[in-house]
Amino acid sequence: MKTKRFAMVLDSSKCIDCKACTVACKIENKVPMGQDNYRNWVAEGPLRGKFPDLGQSFQPGQCMQCANTPCDQVCPTGATRVNRDGIVLVDDHKCIGCKYCITACPYNARYYNEVTGAVDKCTFCVQRIYRGRQPACVETCPTKVRVFGDLNDRNSEVSRLLVKHAYKVEKPEMGTDPFLFYII
Ligand code: SF4
Ligand code: SF4
Ligand code: SF4
Repeated sequence: MKTKRFAMVLDSSKCIDCKACTVACKIENKVPMGQDNYRNWVAEGPLRGKFPDLGQSFQPGQCMQCANTPCDQVCPTGATRVNRDGIVLVDDHKCIGCKYCITACPYNARYYNEVTGAVDKCTFCVQRIYRGRQPACVETCPTKVRVFGDLNDRNSEVSRLLVKHAYKVEKPEMGTDPFLFYII
């Protein structure tokens, strides 16, 4: 079977900070209650303009599914691994909760799940995508900020978006080679 390279392309200019994606993610992935527990987030930009004509931008984020993975490199048990399609996963049974990977991740994309006793993070909803469904955040977003797909398929929507638009990745200086792309 041909290898895929899953990625997400986001148009943050469409984000209205409704946080439906964060709620959907928590429900889908059984993320325990608590403000430090999350697989995805919406970062608020600074206020623009002058009162009463104010505006604000928002940028959704989650694990960047990096190609160069510091989280994987520091894991002493092999619990963190990259699957054949580029998705960075954590094996709950191998994770000993040392939290080295939480410290190593430049994006603060991981949290410690006290219910499972393992570190957890976005997996692009592996339980859904290999059954032909979209990640929960993608399916839920009312303004279609998020597009998910296979970058090895030149005809996929993610590939076409990256040909059509200029884009950036977060913290390129870290050398992590992220696979979340933000249209600019
Ligand atoms: Fe690892 Fe963090 Fe990159 Fe995700 S964003 S692959 S947790 S370094
Ligand atoms: Fe959460 Fe799934 Fe979206 Fe990742 S892809 S942020 S796990 S809903
Ligand atoms: Fe932004 Fe979409 Fe998330 Fe709402 S669901 S906060 S519009 S990315």
